[in-house]
Amino acid sequence: MNENIRQVLILQDRDMKFSRLEEELESLDPERQSAKRDSLKRQQIYEEAKQNLVKLEVRRKDLDNDVETKKTQINKYAQQQLETRKNEEYTALGREIDHAKEAISKIEDEELELLEEIDSYKPKIEEAKGIAEEAKAHEVATLADFDEREKNIEKELEVLEDERASLIEKLDSKLVRHYERLLETKSGKVVVGVDHGNCSGCHMKLQAQTLVDAKSGRDMVTCTNCGRLLYYTREMIMPDELAD
Ligand SMILES: [Zn+2]
Repeated sequence: MNENIRQVLILQDRDMKFSRLEEELESLDPERQSAKRDSLKRQQIYEEAKQNLVKLEVRRKDLDNDVETKKTQINKYAQQQLETRKNEEYTALGREIDHAKEAISKIEDEELELLEEIDSYKPKIEEAKGIAEEAKAHEVATLADFDEREKNIEKELEVLEDERASLIEKLDSKLVRHYERLLETKSGKVVVGVDHGNCSGCHMKLQAQTLVDAKSGRDMVTCTNCGRLLYYTREMIMPDELAD
């Protein structure tokens, strides 16, 4: 193979690696943010669960207070019953006492249900806590891992930049200019092989002269259709009529 083309192929390989690493570097930040968001969300779920339990316990305390109030009322009515001499008033107070007792019974039923709810809620909080802790640990590990990856990628990019500079130094400047112009306008590879007599960049059939030039290892053989730099290697299969 033409030595210049061989060098340009190495350059292309390094440039593609450079682009891949740059893309990877750019992808790190969104991934970082996503790990942070996930951890924050789990933490919020845990905090909400804790707050809900506090609310349930406040409600329970309120019910306790209600029971106490009713009991005080009952005592007051009972005292009034002792003090009255009127039968009618005595009976009325008795009814009040019965009402208050009924109310207490209802409150106590509600309290029992609430206690069950509180009991079943506690394992959920423990679960949410576990999930939040796991997410936090994952976040910390991910961030550390990404920092490490970022450092490594930056180091690799530096190495590639140095390699690129020394490759370009050795290469024909006209060839480099052509290569760089192609990089700006074409996607994917710009130094491409001959494949079955076609350009493997644009897949158009190459002219017989172009094939001969490529095969002879001449400098700067380009596809007349897309302008990509062409190279030919022995392993490439040529159509029979074009093989010499
Ligand atoms: Zn082409």
